[in-house]
Amino acid sequence: MTEKPTMIAFQDVHKYYGDYHALRGITATIRAGEFFSLLGPSGCGKTTLLRTIAGFEGISSGAVMIDERNMAGVPANQRPTNMVFQSYAIFPHLTVGENVGFGLRKARLPKAELAAKVAEALEMVGLGGYGDRAAHALSGGQRQRVALARALILKPKVLLLDEPLSALDKKMREQMQVELIRLQRQVGITFILVTHDQEEALVMSDRIAVMFEGEIAQLADPETLYRRPNSRKVADFIGTMNFLPAKILSEVGDKIEIEAQGFGQLTLEAEQAPGAVSGDGAVVGFRPETLTILFEGQTATDRESMAVIEEVVYYGDMTYYDVKLDGTERPIRISMRNVFGRPVLEIGDRTRVAWSPGALVMFR
Ligand code: ATP
Repeated sequence: MTEKPTMIAFQDVHKYYGDYHALRGITATIRAGEFFSLLGPSGCGKTTLLRTIAGFEGISSGAVMIDERNMAGVPANQRPTNMVFQSYAIFPHLTVGENVGFGLRKARLPKAELAAKVAEALEMVGLGGYGDRAAHALSGGQRQRVALARALILKPKVLLLDEPLSALDKKMREQMQVELIRLQRQVGITFILVTHDQEEALVMSDRIAVMFEGEIAQLADPETLYRRPNSRKVADFIGTMNFLPAKILSEVGDKIEIEAQGFGQLTLEAEQAPGAVSGDGAVVGFRPETLTILFEGQTATDRESMAVIEEVVYYGDMTYYDVKLDGTERPIRISMRNVFGRPVLEIGDRTRVAWSPGALVMFR
């Protein structure tokens, strides 16, 4: 597959609010037709970065390019972007259809043409036939759809979404996530989502920029971020990661010999140890699903260790076990899919645990 052309390019973007350095040299590209997320904790600068695309926020230095055009001095209303906010900003005294057509009012289209465009946009967001309803009578999820339809009817090249789902309850949020993915595939517009919810970013995005303190810490597809985080901080922010102390014994070519608490001596590929250094203070990280509790009659395909169960949390489809591997001081978490007919282990049980060196990542 040929790579899609660039839609947005940030070139060493800095932003100061007075003395506060909110964006600290952002360089990144977002491709046309991509579902891209800006993910990070509160205050990391993700909303500020989104607003520099929309033109709601100026930058202190660097450049923001959209579709190969430098946006310096281009006002928000002349940019090929549109924004959907967390607070839907729906006009309650208008109908659904009037809300959706609002952005086109200046275009002075013939009535029939406007009606057709409104109907098409409502259809897109699953609100076909809702045009005459009063906007104030809609549920939260429906209002968010109206806000989406109102943004999409203007056919922007880039749709900017600032935590659009955070006001919805869990079930509605999950449903809207799936619908947003479907919608993005259907319209093919570049979507850029701001979220502090790592699960939401993993579910929805083609690629994610993880931000801390005004910088992009890692930019990658969801699987790479999850399997090969480039720092302990990213690893900790995305999903659950276990850590155990480790040290480097030797490095030969792209093989690194290490000793890790609970696992003993083993060999990692260099790509499993981003920025690893000799000396104390290093850790190996691994996800809860990469370890397996072995039940009677089962054998490990790779390595095996002994452990004692310290905590059991039963979720119906899954059980989370906190176990202490022999030779370690702190428990680690293992997530196991429950299988019909197989017992759930109890606190204090001794068990064998299967694991594989390939699933480990080492950080300084
Ligand atoms: P949140 O999820 O809480 O919105 P965020 O990652 O989107 O966080 P931003 O809103 O981009 O963060 O803010 C980044 C930093 O810049 C924060 O420390 C914030 O206090 C500061 N900031 C944002 N807007 C302004 C402003 N207009 N004036 C001064 N400081 C600001």
